Amino acid sequence: MENDLKKRMIGTSKIEYKKVSSILTKATGFMNTYDFTLNPYSGCSFGCTYCYAAFFSKSEQLKSNWGHWVHVKENALDLLIKFRKKPLYGKTIYMSSVTDPYMPIEKDLMLTRDLLKELAEFHQPRLVIQTRSPLVTRDIDLLKQFISVQVNMTITTDSEDVRKVFEPLCPSNATRMKAIKEVNDSGIDSCITMTPLLPIENAEQFASNLKSTGVKNFIVQPFHSERGKFVRGTRDSALHIIKKMEWSLDEYKRVESILVKHIPEIRIGKKGFKPI
Ligand code: SF4
Repeated sequence: MENDLKKRMIGTSKIEYKKVSSILTKATGFMNTYDFTLNPYSGCSFGCTYCYAAFFSKSEQLKSNWGHWVHVKENALDLLIKFRKKPLYGKTIYMSSVTDPYMPIEKDLMLTRDLLKELAEFHQPRLVIQTRSPLVTRDIDLLKQFISVQVNMTITTDSEDVRKVFEPLCPSNATRMKAIKEVNDSGIDSCITMTPLLPIENAEQFASNLKSTGVKNFIVQPFHSERGKFVRGTRDSALHIIKKMEWSLDEYKRVESILVKHIPEIRIGKKGFKPI
């Protein structure tokens, strides 16, 4: 990695560069229908208030400071190159499960892009990319080289006010909608993931806007739950907002039913995430 690219801060995020022992993680839990997850970074400067990935932080300090630190896996490409001996052809890879592969640092570092180049040229896995960033459009040229790839764009609400409360450091809803349309228009399989679905101002209009992107795949689900409860696994800061906004499971279900009425092909919950 070039020294001049070794930035120490991006926005409010402190950037550190770390060597890791592995780059592919056997997928378990919510992602257990995949073979591997691939996270080019640890931490995430998008810092969504509800992000369950914060719970996987290595210390309480990192957990409480979620959204303000990023660890760049500086040997990620070297580790992936080692798999050329046993290519990942046909393996299902989810990129990424506990970070966003297109957060702002990626614009300069192009680590995700380097990993995609390696995967396209030497492996051809069945790849799903999950992001909240329009930066994914930069790599359309590379994504077109995959036999099997899908880009999932997370769009959680139709309201910028709601988005700013839950996802203050993320790109706007409109830029995400425009980006996934561009990806889809380029011929790459695309999906809009409303995961988690946040309070919606106008469900009918939202459904119409979603359909107008031309995207054919949609997934919706409520906040991550555990043992049947609505909000377990969601961070305290989001729990507080959920309560304040009176975003109950009943209200979620009401909006979900409107979305399903307008977009019958919409998939609900974990089964929607199964590999392509
Ligand atoms: S973009 Fe994803 S990984 Fe990053 S904070 Fe938001 S939910 Fe977590």
